[in-house]
Amino acid sequence: MNRISAPSCADPFEPNMISLGEAIARIEERVKPVTESESLPLRDCLDRVNHDSIFSPINVPPHANSAMDGVAVAIESLKPSGISLLDDVGTAFAGTPFTEPCLPGQCVRIMTGALIPAGTNAVIMQEQTERDSDGKVRVDHQHRIDENIRQAGEDIGKGDQVIEAGARLNPADIGVLASLGIARLKVKRKPRVAFFSTGDELIAIDQPLRAGKIYDSNRYTLHALLSRLSVEIVDLGVIPDQPDAIRQALTDAAQQADLVISTGGVSMGEADYIKPALEAIGSSEFWKIAIKPGRPLTLGQIDGSTFMGLPGNPVAVMVTFSQFVLPAIHALAGSRPKRPILLNATATDRIRKRPGRYEFQRGIASLDANNQWQVGKTGKQGSGILTSMSRANCFIVLPDENAGVEAGDPVSIQLFDWNF
Ligand code: AMP
Ligand code: MG
Repeated sequence: MNRISAPSCADPFEPNMISLGEAIARIEERVKPVTESESLPLRDCLDRVNHDSIFSPINVPPHANSAMDGVAVAIESLKPSGISLLDDVGTAFAGTPFTEPCLPGQCVRIMTGALIPAGTNAVIMQEQTERDSDGKVRVDHQHRIDENIRQAGEDIGKGDQVIEAGARLNPADIGVLASLGIARLKVKRKPRVAFFSTGDELIAIDQPLRAGKIYDSNRYTLHALLSRLSVEIVDLGVIPDQPDAIRQALTDAAQQADLVISTGGVSMGEADYIKPALEAIGSSEFWKIAIKPGRPLTLGQIDGSTFMGLPGNPVAVMVTFSQFVLPAIHALAGSRPKRPILLNATATDRIRKRPGRYEFQRGIASLDANNQWQVGKTGKQGSGILTSMSRANCFIVLPDENAGVEAGDPVSIQLFDWNF
């Protein structure tokens, strides 16, 4: 059970903090979708955003056809009771129709997908027929009109809307479009996303470590996260903690990209230069969001580009990416918002938490013997402990008011699909 405690001065609550939901709503409101589109071969449209609603030019299936291997018959020509003996007058294959008429007392052998021959209105499956030594086909009377027939247009009718404008095309959509004979499609252009790291402590991963330095992991995490999305990626490297360098990097980035992401330099430390740089060349908002980790976030506008300044701590980068950058990219791409799916699980560990912030603890979820989700923590939960993410397969999400969890309590989890 969640224990609700009275507010105290020890709570990490600040009056000017905004909620997770408020931050997402503001981001989606500020980001303007790309307007340009391009026409691409269907195969290249996977994960792209459909530009115009698609209406079917044809019926799918285009013609009535058989759902089974068997014999096509006219139901009214069968005896009302007992066995009918029918003459086999030919075979209808998928792709090669039987074009002769089928008269009363006759039947046509038919394969799955073959056109229903003229003069027939049911398919009796192979297993329900017998063949006499003289070649006649025996069927009983327990059959009905339209049995085992896939009607023309039963999947999609001509003129039906099949895919909405703004849909992100999944593998099934690609198949549906192919079934309509649509070989090229107009999709929105991919958003361009540029990113850089800030911090004088950062060195490149192919250099030896020196005193006081750490490897720049955030840029690799971001590159990996963005690589899973349908965006163009521009890696702008590491920018030193110098106002001019950061201003220049922001200006260059905004010329190349629809969305510019930086990590680090947005807290209130002395060496945090994003704020003044951004104020000099564009507009900016600095938020404290009631989440943990990932409290500080900067949203800005430089010419036509959106800027998102993420915190520097590696876990905070991943949390803010999953909660804020993804909605921004979807808004930019012109697709519908995609909300995380929360599942119910039972905690197997005690989890300490104070009310006031929405927390993303890193968890390992598995199905128990009854196929119910259970989840334990990955261990230390500091926002610099990136192995807490690599060991995890989910976030354990603890809402603002949650005041800690005992083993056995219900919690919500958000499974990683590594697209978040
Ligand atoms: P900052 O927000 O710049 O004060 O950074 C917060 C913490 O994250 C500091 O401990 C930084 O050293 C660390 N950090 C910042 N950027 C990176 C990065 N690119 N890779 C790894 N750690 C980083
Ligand atoms: Mg820094």
